[in-house]
Amino acid sequence: MDKLKSYINQHKDRFINELIELLKIPSISADSAFSQDVINTAEAIKISLQKAGCDLVEICETPGYPIVYGEKIIDEKLPTILVYGHYDVQPPDPLNLWDSPPFEPVIKKTEIHPEGAIFARGSCDDKGQMYMHVKALEYMTANNKLPCNVKFMIEGEEEVGSVSLSWFVKQNHDKLANDVILISDTGMISNTQPSITTGLRGLSYVEVEVTGPNRDLHSGLYGGAVANPINILTKMIASLHDENNHITIPGFYDKVEELSTEERAEMAKAPFSLDAYKKALDIESVYGEKGYTTNERNAIRPTLDVNGIWGGYTGEGAKTVIASKASAKISMRLVPNQDWNEITKLFRKYSS
Ligand SMILES: [Zn+2]
Repeated sequence: MDKLKSYINQHKDRFINELIELLKIPSISADSAFSQDVINTAEAIKISLQKAGCDLVEICETPGYPIVYGEKIIDEKLPTILVYGHYDVQPPDPLNLWDSPPFEPVIKKTEIHPEGAIFARGSCDDKGQMYMHVKALEYMTANNKLPCNVKFMIEGEEEVGSVSLSWFVKQNHDKLANDVILISDTGMISNTQPSITTGLRGLSYVEVEVTGPNRDLHSGLYGGAVANPINILTKMIASLHDENNHITIPGFYDKVEELSTEERAEMAKAPFSLDAYKKALDIESVYGEKGYTTNERNAIRPTLDVNGIWGGYTGEGAKTVIASKASAKISMRLVPNQDWNEITKLFRKYSS
């Protein structure tokens, strides 16, 4: 342990600076204006894996952004760990909610990070965690402590649905062979509680467009006489939950697995402070499906959320327009036995 500490202390500044350089690259996979930055990040990961001690590192082309593959095989007879991570990040908007620019990393001490933490887009999703594994490999190879074979599979499309990942995995069945997959792209119960996430909810993602009149209209001339697509869309969205925050789509819950009282009691044993949760989010109360706790709501229950909504006039001042179209992006988090295809069909049927 002492040797570990001394190696880390000796190299700490370099580790942090390397991560900061990585965080400066705006690898926003959702916005094609940043495609070169996404590719540059893959290059940077390749170099860091080579420096950390991987014997083979490749940038593997896919139909989308490349996947960086690295490996350190010390003995075929030993078990192999496959580390998964992603080098792309979410778009940083809205920019005015950032205390410091998203791609200019700063180290700040806060109430929950008394020793300081790096604030930048991607610092904890997922460049920070991914880099932790790269540096762990560096430490282990540099100190002859690697107890197993290690492979890395770092993708650049996680924030846009990992579109090429399944294609890549199917193409590289043997190359990726492993005994354990290690993913650090989820949450921790608290800063002092090591946690293992054993499952995550799935996703159905849809875009809805409501079309009304063939052109934008003036509300003084047409208001009240034609259906306003934005009014209709918001009414439709509001009707997707009932007064108990239960989703109203017929059949939505049909296959949802209900946990037993014992299982729920087990879940409730995980350390959790509702006060700390509210404080961290700066909210006065929590919200959600009646009859379930906060941890149950965000783990074992399916959800439906609007992720974006647009239409009409959103610029400065007033424009009395009745838009011809209104749109929304809606996602549903799904639990075991819910099939995304089926759920998407149920949504479509209900909303059309
Ligand atoms: Zn992530």
